[in-house]
Amino acid sequence: MKTHHLYRDVGVVLRTYKLGEADRIVVLLTEGNGKVRAVAKGVRKTKSKFGARLEQMSHVRLLLYRGRELDFISQAESVEPLAPMLGDLDRASQGIAVLEAADQMGLEREPNPQLYRMVVGVLRTIAVRPSPLVVPAFYWKLLAAEGFGPELDTCVHCGEEPVPAGAHHDGAELVAFDLHEGGVLCRSCRSGGPISREALDILRDILGGRLNEALAAPESRASHEVGVLATKAMEHHLERRMRTVAIFER
Ligand SMILES: [Zn+2]
Repeated sequence: MKTHHLYRDVGVVLRTYKLGEADRIVVLLTEGNGKVRAVAKGVRKTKSKFGARLEQMSHVRLLLYRGRELDFISQAESVEPLAPMLGDLDRASQGIAVLEAADQMGLEREPNPQLYRMVVGVLRTIAVRPSPLVVPAFYWKLLAAEGFGPELDTCVHCGEEPVPAGAHHDGAELVAFDLHEGGVLCRSCRSGGPISREALDILRDILGGRLNEALAAPESRASHEVGVLATKAMEHHLERRMRTVAIFER
């Protein structure tokens, strides 16, 4: 292997799996090289110098060298301890949901520094300030960053805008949300499922640069609604993307 194939990057460990007797394949989301699949030699031996630094959710600075299919990890040092939150069941399940979404959204060796920054940011938030809305907000912001943000202000079917409070006009209230249509719908055009005004407000906060306000709000039926919708939206997007990939690969 030529030395010019050496490269440095930082990344978060999405998952790992065993390779042979003593090695492990580490799947990372890196800042500069997108998703990277790299071999960590000998990490399953007790004397391994960096095994513990390459656990799921570890945030590490790496020296790697490029292989034909898999890369090889030459050095790994911890950037910050994110993995300890795996000890708390609630935080662990939130963190793992983030890693799984990142794994599906990230493309191998396709740099996506924005995705990397969002993942690190949300993991830090879960570590210090867990809220039931952290993961849903991450999903929505991720979809918006990929160009699939929902329309929240006008009916996606007729373009009707909501009427100001106090006005009397039946048709223009936004009452439904349809993933296939890409956003909210008024009473006359409604399809998909109902959405409450409170849930719509939370969604607008999340996607309108008021994430802190959204996260500070107490848990409610509306925040639960936003969570359920976020999971559906993410699944919908990933399914559609898988179909597109399948078409390209035919
Ligand atoms: Zn309409």
